[in-house]
Amino acid sequence: MYKTEIATHRALSSPNLGPPGTRAAVHCAQCGERLSRKIPATESRERLVCSSCGYISYENPKILVACLVTFGERLLLCRRALAPGYGLWAPPGGFLENGETPQEGAAREVWEETGVRLVGTPLVFRGLTCLMELNEVYANFSASVSCGRCQPGAEALDAAFFAPDELPWAELAYPTLADDLRQFFHERVAHRSRKQSLGR
Ligand SMILES: [Zn+2]
Repeated sequence: MYKTEIATHRALSSPNLGPPGTRAAVHCAQCGERLSRKIPATESRERLVCSSCGYISYENPKILVACLVTFGERLLLCRRALAPGYGLWAPPGGFLENGETPQEGAAREVWEETGVRLVGTPLVFRGLTCLMELNEVYANFSASVSCGRCQPGAEALDAAFFAPDELPWAELAYPTLADDLRQFFHERVAHRSRKQSLGR
């Protein structure tokens, strides 16, 4: 089992997918009136409040999911077909949808971006990554598959399984990814040698 931890990054260029979770709604979702920033009587911090009906539009972090999928020693990456990071490599991942468990969301992103199915494959929780400036929280998983076939989806230019020494280290989509992947490979080696020393 891999170590579970929370990584926090305060300064980071735009990582994996989609717009930052900081774009505020301008109009009230209930009555269409313009929202303004103020501290509601019942709260202690500034919110977007509708002056007409009193509706409060809460701004909270977005939840994203990502999965490190291995086939033997090889790790699955996809080459992004979207900005930010167009043309760069990253593990499959993206925004969690309503009605999905994080595991389901991670498996869906893997399927959509790389054509790899994780049906019946256990997803191991690796920890959370908090991107403070983007108001994003990533739930990170890992999974291993018994077939090395993959095919890029609409949001990917390419998808491939890489051995550690073949990985496009200089073309990764965001700065902290190289450290995370090195840590992941390191943990796998440590895990394997521990199992061997126990004779299992
Ligand atoms: Zn309103």
